[in-house]
Amino acid sequence: MIILSKRLPVFEMLLDYDSYIDKSAGELGCWPWIGTTDKDGYGRYRKFYYDGREVTGCSRISHILHIGPILEDLRVLHSCDNPPCVNPRHLSAGTHVENMKQMKERGRSLRGARGTGAKLTEEQAIAIYIHPWNDNLCNRENYTLIAGKFNTTAGTVYHIRERKTWKHIHELQTGS
Ligand SMILES: [Zn+2]
Repeated sequence: MIILSKRLPVFEMLLDYDSYIDKSAGELGCWPWIGTTDKDGYGRYRKFYYDGREVTGCSRISHILHIGPILEDLRVLHSCDNPPCVNPRHLSAGTHVENMKQMKERGRSLRGARGTGAKLTEEQAIAIYIHPWNDNLCNRENYTLIAGKFNTTAGTVYHIRERKTWKHIHELQTGS
């Protein structure tokens, strides 16, 4: 990470940059840029160089300083919808947003279907979980019987009944 300023030593430049930020709203509040802004209200700063290139957008500068580098074609987004805000807690680059989205989706699919033959809907998984147990049969026979009804494998039924998969079903049942 190479940060340079053409007009000031880096440390002085960072102090200078910081002096244009109003942090009076506290750690979690919006930090408006009180220096020059563009017509849309986004802060502009002209002394910051990153990897040999001038970066003028203050949202980008704050992201680079506090969160990390940004791929060139990505935008820095404000969760607060407040253009002059440069609080890094309110900023994210495209990749970050995409990552979060992917993580959510990954989490959702992992929670549901782990392993093979587990393409069940939540409703089916709940139905399997609450399916009556035949006490005249051994466990294995029960798993196979239920699996046949839901067109899945005995292993999947076992995992659902033993709470190894579809854990959120059990959370749903006890959570409300
Ligand atoms: Zn903000």
